[in-house]
Amino acid sequence: MEKVYDLAIAGGGPGGVGAGIYASRKKLKTVLITDGFGGQSAVSPEIQNWVGTISISGQELSKNLENHLREYADDSIQIKDAERVETITQNDEKLFEIKTNKETYISKTVLVTTGSHRRKLTAKNADKLEHRGITYCATCDGPLFSNKDVIVVGGGNAGFETASQLLAYAKSVTLLDKNEKPKADEITVKKVLSNPNMKLISNAKITEILGDKFVTGLIYEDAKTGEVIELKTDGIFAEIGAQPTTGFVADLVDLNDYGSIPVDPKTQKTSKEGIWAAGDCTDGLYHQNNIAVGDAIKALEDIYLYLNTK
Ligand SMILES: Cc1cc2nc3c(=O)[nH]c(=O)nc-3n(C[C@H](O)[C@H](O)[C@H](O)COP(=O)(O)OP(=O)(O)OC[C@H]3O[C@@H](n4cnc5c(N)ncnc54)[C@H](O)[C@@H]3O)c2cc1C
Repeated sequence: MEKVYDLAIAGGGPGGVGAGIYASRKKLKTVLITDGFGGQSAVSPEIQNWVGTISISGQELSKNLENHLREYADDSIQIKDAERVETITQNDEKLFEIKTNKETYISKTVLVTTGSHRRKLTAKNADKLEHRGITYCATCDGPLFSNKDVIVVGGGNAGFETASQLLAYAKSVTLLDKNEKPKADEITVKKVLSNPNMKLISNAKITEILGDKFVTGLIYEDAKTGEVIELKTDGIFAEIGAQPTTGFVADLVDLNDYGSIPVDPKTQKTSKEGIWAAGDCTDGLYHQNNIAVGDAIKALEDIYLYLNTK
């Protein structure tokens, strides 16, 4: 007979780790499956709002989260690192079957904390030139573009913060925004645009990325005038939002139009009995490290009650 877990946690970001620590202290037989620890802010050079810590790098935070979980894991938490959940189904006995790229686990309940991932550029050739001049991480790849002319795509806070980081290395930074007016905070926009090496182009609809082995430029259409313009560049940094990582539960739980999992904010229950969700994969209005942890712990408390009163 296969082992039946009380709980399967998908994801090892702040949400998944927070729930894992609580699950171990409550001695729930748990399997935590993640393809990596730390979550999205792992690439951040500095995090200043992780409560109780004045300043920490994303990498350090990731290591701390992993260490904290492993320290208390005992024999109640099985940690499956470098493993990816591919599908979750429910069998005739109402147990969940969590299939990964390596194994299948059986569990009475599931907590989804798989967060979100970057939205990709969809212009012609963008898929071909990904990691060949198109990048989604200024912290990781910014230094590779020292003294080059680079483009940032996206007029939100992430776009302007990326531009600000790149100005430290690049010869020039041009930010392309599809809107008339950037959505980023006014104070950030003003500060970044005050740099003489910075330029903003509004109403820009990117239609094609140019380059054979490596990015050499792009073509955009001015949405107001219809004019088609070619720009030369050595690198493109895309900051066009995030998409919840929820495809593997789409057949079991309701998703909203953005692919987020709607949850009851009191308990983090999803539309499917036995499945909870927390953090950036949910329809919660605000997404932050501390919020992901708090929501996941709320879910864990509710899961514990469910398992012990059912
Ligand atoms: C660049 C950047 C900087 C940020 N800076 C801050 C900050 O300073 N302060 C702050 O509070 N917030 C910050 N945020 C937001 C914060 O990172 C998120 O709100 C938080 O990480 C959400 O946590 P989560 O656990 O819900 O999901 P995530 O952090 O997205 O973690 C999801 C986890 O699930 C794993 N996973 C995904 N899919 C699967 C799968 N199919 N199978 C197994 N595992 C899977 C991933 O590897 C990851 O470990 C930042 C975000 C970014 C992108």
